[in-house]
Amino acid sequence: MLVDGFGRQIRYLRISLTDKCNLRCRYCVPEEGVVIKPHIDLLTLEEVERTAAVLTGLGIEKIRFTGGEPLVRRGAVSVIRSVASLPSKPSVGLTTNGVLLNENLHDLMSCGLSGINISLDTLRDDVYGKITGFPVLPQVLSAVHACIDSGITLKINAVPMKGINEEDIPALAQFSRDNDMAVRFIELMPMGCASAFTGIPNDEVMKMLCDRFGSPAALTAVPEDGPASYVQFQGFKGRVGFISPLTHRFCGSCDRIRLTCDGRLKLCLASPVSLDLRSLLRSGASDEDIAAAVAGALKDKPAGHEFINKKCDQNMIGIGG
Ligand code: SAM
Repeated sequence: MLVDGFGRQIRYLRISLTDKCNLRCRYCVPEEGVVIKPHIDLLTLEEVERTAAVLTGLGIEKIRFTGGEPLVRRGAVSVIRSVASLPSKPSVGLTTNGVLLNENLHDLMSCGLSGINISLDTLRDDVYGKITGFPVLPQVLSAVHACIDSGITLKINAVPMKGINEEDIPALAQFSRDNDMAVRFIELMPMGCASAFTGIPNDEVMKMLCDRFGSPAALTAVPEDGPASYVQFQGFKGRVGFISPLTHRFCGSCDRIRLTCDGRLKLCLASPVSLDLRSLLRSGASDEDIAAAVAGALKDKPAGHEFINKKCDQNMIGIGG
């Protein structure tokens, strides 16, 4: 079992497969771009798989692949398949912008994924272009519908921002009116270039939705929901979720750690503290050495993020959202 210095059991690992992305979301990638890490610095797919194997052996039950855009990494589907078939059979999910999903969905469906999260902040072509820099909303919507048709568990994640996509909030929520799926609103965290934007607190998002759809029923939280709280509006088939790291901090129950694409094990999104797993992996460390290093590093997992008091210089793209 992995337990941190505050007694929190760590069950959830997010793995960033790459810091490359085929979109340039303005709150995630700085305008001047980012220096992409040389390929040699990225964990190989074998190193990713080995790390996942060691950590699932220690009690990680849930793994999510992310990035950058995970599907731009060659071999992404094969590493997802390998990790999903590890002996402990972890629950494996994928977070993607959806641009390359149509061509990969068939293969992904056979990997035993527990679900796919698609990031989608607007349903308007012009706004999508302004946020992401690319006119690919039709591809993403087509992937959303392909996922719905496939029956895979689907969540849409949206980050509401003042003056950018607030008008889209009810329209995005309506995906869960007609489909048994979740649409989740995530509060913008002031990291790196995101600090130039103003997020919308989830209480305001909820109010907008209540004004439009009436009072919802609050759904009982289940462990698989993680930090999201869910409601269901009358007549909706699916759920609307709220992830509120700023206004309803959930650090006290944080059960996650993150592996960056260059092999740093990050203990908290907002903290620069990390364990250099790549050096260990490349210096002949045994699985036991790696396990001991991870268990030791967890003692330094911070009690919580300091987004409110401290500026976080890191951009999400470099860590893996
Ligand atoms: N490319 C994939 C995607 O778009 O889903 C995976 C990586 S992306 C960094 C993962 C998620 O992080 C996206 O849903 C994005 O909206 C979210 N994100 C990026 N920066 C954020 C921030 N500052 N606050 C909250 N969410 C953020």
